[in-house]
Amino acid sequence: MKNTKYVFVTGGVTSSLGKGIIAASLAKLLQERGYSVTIQKLDPYINVDPGTLNPYEHGECYVTNDGAETDLDLGHYERFLNIPTSQANNVTTGRIYQSVIDRERRGDFLGKTVQVIPHITDEIKRRIQLLGNTGEYDIVITEIGGTVGDIESLPYIEAVRQLNWELGHDNAIVIHLTLVPYLAAAGELKTKPTQHSVKTLMQSGVNPDILVCRTEHPISDDIKRKLALFCNVKQEDVIESLDAETIYDVPIMMFNEGLDEVVLRKLDLCIEEKPSLNKWNEFLHKHKNPKHTVEIGLIGKYVELHDAYKSISEAFIHAGSSNEINVNIHWIHSEKINAKNVEKKLGKLNGILVAPGFGERGIEGKITAIQYAREQKIPFLGICLGMQMAVIEYARNVLHLEGANSSEMDENTPHPVIDLMEEQKNISNMGGTMRLGAWDCTLTKGTKVYDAYKSDLISERHRHRYEFNNTYTDVIQASGMKITGTNPKTGLVEIIELDNHPWFVGVQYHPEYKSTVLNPHPLFIAFIQACLAHHG
Ligand code: GLN
Repeated sequence: MKNTKYVFVTGGVTSSLGKGIIAASLAKLLQERGYSVTIQKLDPYINVDPGTLNPYEHGECYVTNDGAETDLDLGHYERFLNIPTSQANNVTTGRIYQSVIDRERRGDFLGKTVQVIPHITDEIKRRIQLLGNTGEYDIVITEIGGTVGDIESLPYIEAVRQLNWELGHDNAIVIHLTLVPYLAAAGELKTKPTQHSVKTLMQSGVNPDILVCRTEHPISDDIKRKLALFCNVKQEDVIESLDAETIYDVPIMMFNEGLDEVVLRKLDLCIEEKPSLNKWNEFLHKHKNPKHTVEIGLIGKYVELHDAYKSISEAFIHAGSSNEINVNIHWIHSEKINAKNVEKKLGKLNGILVAPGFGERGIEGKITAIQYAREQKIPFLGICLGMQMAVIEYARNVLHLEGANSSEMDENTPHPVIDLMEEQKNISNMGGTMRLGAWDCTLTKGTKVYDAYKSDLISERHRHRYEFNNTYTDVIQASGMKITGTNPKTGLVEIIELDNHPWFVGVQYHPEYKSTVLNPHPLFIAFIQACLAHHG
């Protein structure tokens, strides 16, 4: 059983400073020094999980092996650390209140008045320590979502105050991530916003141990001294975090700034073992010095917000680096594709990816794009809804099953080639009720996917309600579309491929969730290699 130490990461001045990337980078450095580390995100919103949020609100919904629908920062944690996260790694205010209210209804509080302090804060503390209490981790890093001073973050900051006190100073520290803006007119970096955010934090009884300062320009010693003086930290505990070319530079930058060492000293842990960053540096080097470029169209209906497809774009970076290929993503709005302009929009691409999604908006554009990829023999990867649309396109245009559709889009379609699973039919709640998390899939030998995975049994993560309708299996397979992966327990179709096409694969699952820096995903690798071959 390890004596787990806790690092809390709070944010000040503004949102979007990249707390998740700083937390993941610190965790990476500690992990490479030999510590076992995990990262947790506490989100102050009242949704029980982000599964019910529109991607425009909050970017991609990430899914863990155990089927948690989570904040996209968990994707960064997995991509950096190369270890899976779980339900316990993402906690929201909705979840906290839900469990406290459930206990109140059971009568667990024995007549007491249930209050934010201590009941909500106790539940927050319990959730924070759940990961530590597994005995698996030397260090748990907990990122508090939102910005210090937000009304909804207050119970979290209070829980951090209490835990810091209870665990003692060698066992828990607070890193405050803040912005040091540059005023072009004055030609100066300004410390006042940071002073104010630290003051707000201190009003809640929390003293930061380390300041990580996001900045567009290097921070001089003078500025560090000033920040230290006003914010109750030592000068060496003020860490500069300059804007980076890529998020994958940040661990190296934080190492050069000594963030990991400062953290270890404060937690009274050994700093002798230096992190081995060879593999990471090799990845970065290849990422920045590609030998080839492929042009891939990412077709989706949320493309205005690239964060909605975060794991997909990162998976291209991992697979690209390992093959020394620069993947240039063209973000193409599915609503804007039609039979007239498809050639113009997609004609120059080396590969086409049709993205996941929900609902009717933009699906006809996706189907047109898939028809183009199929007929012009452009490498194609369809993910989840993208796979479903590939089946629909094939049913309509090759098998001439007129009006073929998913019953998600048209309940009365004469040919529901994609249909609701039997066990989904009586479900009325939207939250947390899809087919979620990791499921096994057996692959057929001699197929594109078998060549990619080099294994006949894989496990991939899911997030969907609708499935390939098995009553169409024979019709579909009779003429060139092949089912090449199925769930061994349920017989559900997980993968389709086309014969007579250089590379056309649709997967019901989300391969992108499992791609990491050190383990690029085999399907993304195979896809971009096919794109490169198409490029010639
Ligand atoms: N809307 C589809 C379904 O629920 C696909 C979901 C997805 O692409 N993640 O089955």
